[in-house]
Amino acid sequence: MVDVLAFGEHAGGKIAPITADLIAAARGVGGRVAVVLMGGDLTGLEAQTAPLGVDKVYTVQHPLLAGESVDMLVSALEQVCRRVQPRVLLLGKTAIGRDVGPCVAFRLGVGAAQDSVAVEAGGQTGRIVATRPVYGGTAMAKVTFGSSNPQVVIMRPGAVERGSVPGAGEGVAEEAEAIEVELDESIRKVRHVETVRKESERMRLDGASVVVSGGRGLRGPEPFAMLEELAGLLGGAVGASRAACDAGWVDHSYQIGLTGATIRPDLYVTVGISGASQHMAGCSGAKRIVAINKDADANIFKEASFGVVGDWSKVLPSFMEAVRDLVRS
Ligand SMILES: Cc1cc2nc3c(=O)[nH]c(=O)nc-3n(C[C@H](O)[C@H](O)[C@H](O)COP(=O)(O)OP(=O)(O)OC[C@H]3O[C@@H](n4cnc5c(N)ncnc54)[C@H](O)[C@@H]3O)c2cc1C
Repeated sequence: MVDVLAFGEHAGGKIAPITADLIAAARGVGGRVAVVLMGGDLTGLEAQTAPLGVDKVYTVQHPLLAGESVDMLVSALEQVCRRVQPRVLLLGKTAIGRDVGPCVAFRLGVGAAQDSVAVEAGGQTGRIVATRPVYGGTAMAKVTFGSSNPQVVIMRPGAVERGSVPGAGEGVAEEAEAIEVELDESIRKVRHVETVRKESERMRLDGASVVVSGGRGLRGPEPFAMLEELAGLLGGAVGASRAACDAGWVDHSYQIGLTGATIRPDLYVTVGISGASQHMAGCSGAKRIVAINKDADANIFKEASFGVVGDWSKVLPSFMEAVRDLVRS
């Protein structure tokens, strides 16, 4: 019997970070937690899930699951759900999960909660409750499900603190089971033509313990070189507000917020960012926020642990000098 089934993602022979997020969220819901891994070749992947704290690993290996065919994954996951009968199915809001989740829910005739940032065991009804940003991130809605299972929740990457749930990171999978699924070429409606990977030297935002972000207040792309240097000194990654990305100063992969990345660093430094609710939706899990903004009334100061009211072009150089001294000593 499995209570919560997490749809495990992997790439290049490694378990993807979203899988750890989903397992941590599953632990928060409670009950027996399982992960399902699907693919053409799952060699070495099962062992990687054990330290994440799952009770059971299901593997579904089939030649037609090689590549990124959503149609195949939908069919395979539907078959797994009918067999395993989980109470809750968790998927990541990733390129794959955001497609597979609603399709599987439709096929099983159950509801799905997209773009969830939290999931918890329900109150009196015993159904789970998912939390989702609504109205452009200005409010949070709590949604629950009818009586059918599984209750399908598609979760934003980075929304759950991985280490915060008892059991996560400690457990060893007690059981493993290989599930056979029936797939054939007629299932495929969409053909995957090509994957173009963008190589980047940048440190990834997800998982970074320090993030330094710039916003419209920087007034151009050039100051991002200073942010890169500061992030380098602190061993962190660089991010940006949507305004800075929309202006073309940095790529949209830098964007943090409701329609960008969700981060949970130990330290988040913002420079020339107002702290709009849509931006904060992606960084409210930061342990400490340090803000530099010339407007004392900027919303970011309501969220920041430390702040400097001033022009970044004056504040940042001395801040960086102080950090350099600390790094040298
Ligand atoms: C549906 C929807 C989704 C969205 N998703 C996102 C998202 O994912 N991420 C996101 O960031 N935004 C998002 N937005 C946009 C969001 O509402 C804000 O417009 C955006 O975050 C503002 O970016 P900003 O803080 O850089 O710019 P502004 O709000 O213009 O703030 C600039 C700040 O810089 C300060 N400043 C100016 N000059 C200086 C200086 N010399 N020194 C110091 N400070 C200075 C100003 O006082 C100001 O506070 C979304 C909006 C919508 C409607």
